[in-house]
Amino acid sequence: MPKIATEGAAPFVPEGRSLPVLREAVQHCQGCDLYRHATQAVFGELETHQNATRPKVAMMMIGEQPGDQEDRQGRPFVGPAGKLLDQCLDEAQIDRHAVYVTNTVKHFKWEPRGKLRIHKKPGMQEIRACRPWLRAELETVHPQLIVCLGAVAAQSLLGSKFKLTQAHGEIERAEGLPPIIATLHPSAVLRAQTDEDRHRNREILVEDLKQAAAYLHHARS
Ligand code: SF4
Repeated sequence: MPKIATEGAAPFVPEGRSLPVLREAVQHCQGCDLYRHATQAVFGELETHQNATRPKVAMMMIGEQPGDQEDRQGRPFVGPAGKLLDQCLDEAQIDRHAVYVTNTVKHFKWEPRGKLRIHKKPGMQEIRACRPWLRAELETVHPQLIVCLGAVAAQSLLGSKFKLTQAHGEIERAEGLPPIIATLHPSAVLRAQTDEDRHRNREILVEDLKQAAAYLHHARS
């Protein structure tokens, strides 16, 4: 009997909480309609330890949803935004290989424009439906710090009143979660209309990542 989608992803999340088990199970999720038009679900990963069951992770980065390239390749942050994120992490002296990267929503939401698949922002219903996967990742990975990339990820953890423009780069607290820092999604740099905006957004992203690195440094010392 098919599982009922109104419960969101919860009925599809297995009890066994290891990353390989979760990564395999998410491919069968029908917790909302997004699976219908995506190539595959894109689960989070730690680049160097893809098959580790419970890797030790200091920082977990949460984006919005997979993009066109991520959807095709089945891996998070491998498209243009991911490449920019790599550069910004490098500038902030954060080892990308030690960062677990994932998304708020695991399937690509898009609309056709000619031959292109254009990113479409996930709605609150899809974000809520997908939350059990994010919760399972958090419980398995146990990061010391969460970095939310963009307003969708930040508001999904900190509430819809959270204002990224005002509170980016600051340590935020939410019940039952590790400390959270929110910053811009790298796509906000790529989509900026002017060189000036692009430059400013990139600076914000790098500076906030430096704050995240500094927080972890202090937490360890
Ligand atoms: S977006 Fe999330 S809840 Fe919706 S089908 Fe995909 S994995 Fe399931």
